[in-house]
Amino acid sequence: MEFLKILWDNLKKGPVTDAFPFGETYTPDRLRGRVEIDPTLCVGCGTCVHVCAAGAINISKFEDGSGFEITVWRNSCCLCAQCRHYCPTKAVTLSNDWHSAHRATEKYTQITRAKVKYDYCAVCGAKMRRKCSTASTPSIPKSTWT
Ligand code: SF4
Ligand code: SF4
Repeated sequence: MEFLKILWDNLKKGPVTDAFPFGETYTPDRLRGRVEIDPTLCVGCGTCVHVCAAGAINISKFEDGSGFEITVWRNSCCLCAQCRHYCPTKAVTLSNDWHSAHRATEKYTQITRAKVKYDYCAVCGAKMRRKCSTASTPSIPKSTWT
């Protein structure tokens, strides 16, 4: 009858695993979750596109040439954080939001997007990207642009 006592004790203790999805669960501070792009810091250098082994990032220019859009496909992203590591302006962060479950019909909407407008030179009016605040900006070939 020892097992009945153990069974009763365990029933009294309740579930020992996380309550999720019926309740909150613990999320470590440094968990690598959804990729976020800060459009105020992104200079469109293409480094993140170049280092992303999953091919999850794309940069496309606006048709009128006034800027560009950077897109991260969350379903392709494997959360390796290489884009964050190599981004010269620290425009990439990985939030600790790991809630990525969605319906199959929503798979094409699982996207992080940032739109970046070019600035214009106050003297000559030429179109330019924001200046990178880091001296070690790597040189990325134009072929990484789409
Ligand atoms: S590496 Fe950083 S600055 Fe360069 S395009 Fe990607 S997010 Fe923008
Ligand atoms: S975390 Fe890794 S897989 Fe995801 S977008 Fe960045 S480089 Fe690509």
